[in-house]
Amino acid sequence: MYLKKLELQGFKSFADKVTLNFEKGVTAIVGPNGSGKSNISDAIRLVLGEQSIKSLRGSKLEDVIFAGSENRKPLGFCEINLTLDNSDGYLPFDYTEVVITRKIFRSGESEFFINKTPCRLKDIYELFLDTGVGKEGYSIIGQGRIDEILSARPEDRRQIFEEAIGISKYRYKKEEAERK
Ligand code: ATP
Ligand code: MG
Repeated sequence: MYLKKLELQGFKSFADKVTLNFEKGVTAIVGPNGSGKSNISDAIRLVLGEQSIKSLRGSKLEDVIFAGSENRKPLGFCEINLTLDNSDGYLPFDYTEVVITRKIFRSGESEFFINKTPCRLKDIYELFLDTGVGKEGYSIIGQGRIDEILSARPEDRRQIFEEAIGISKYRYKKEEAERK
């Protein structure tokens, strides 16, 4: 599985639709300060279900919608589409491509889709559980995260190992069952 494409529309500094195609292997994103590099990783985290606004460097969810510029009005919503290549069947899903979509509206509401079918945030969480890809996965290591892992309480650090060895889903299922 690998990240194939990211499409942004109305997201932070990307008012117009932008398509980023990624090849297999390593991709580096370079650019001057303020050009939108971190906004790209913010978009990836959001579409994977990030709910923590703080980690997205805003104070409200709607801060991620294009806020307008001198000659351009603010937009009413934004859309993020993330395409993952699943031809190796890494995700437990019968498709060779998985497209995750999140739309965010000024009301603060979000809509989620998997391959264009509306779904719940929970479905996205469950799809990526134990893959390391989800919003709490280890596939996105932000600034300061290494220090955070090293100084974390043992119980918190354990969660990272549980995700890596693929047993998070059992804890999740147990907690789900206990809630019912
Ligand atoms: P650095 O090299 O300093 O880390 P960067 O390339 O990571 O820079 P970002 O933080 O991704 O830059 O982009 C910041 C830019 O995004 C700023 O110019 C900011 O004004 C713009 N921006 C953030 N949110 C919005 C928004 N809602 N609407 C319009 N522009 C936005
Ligand atoms: Mg940055």
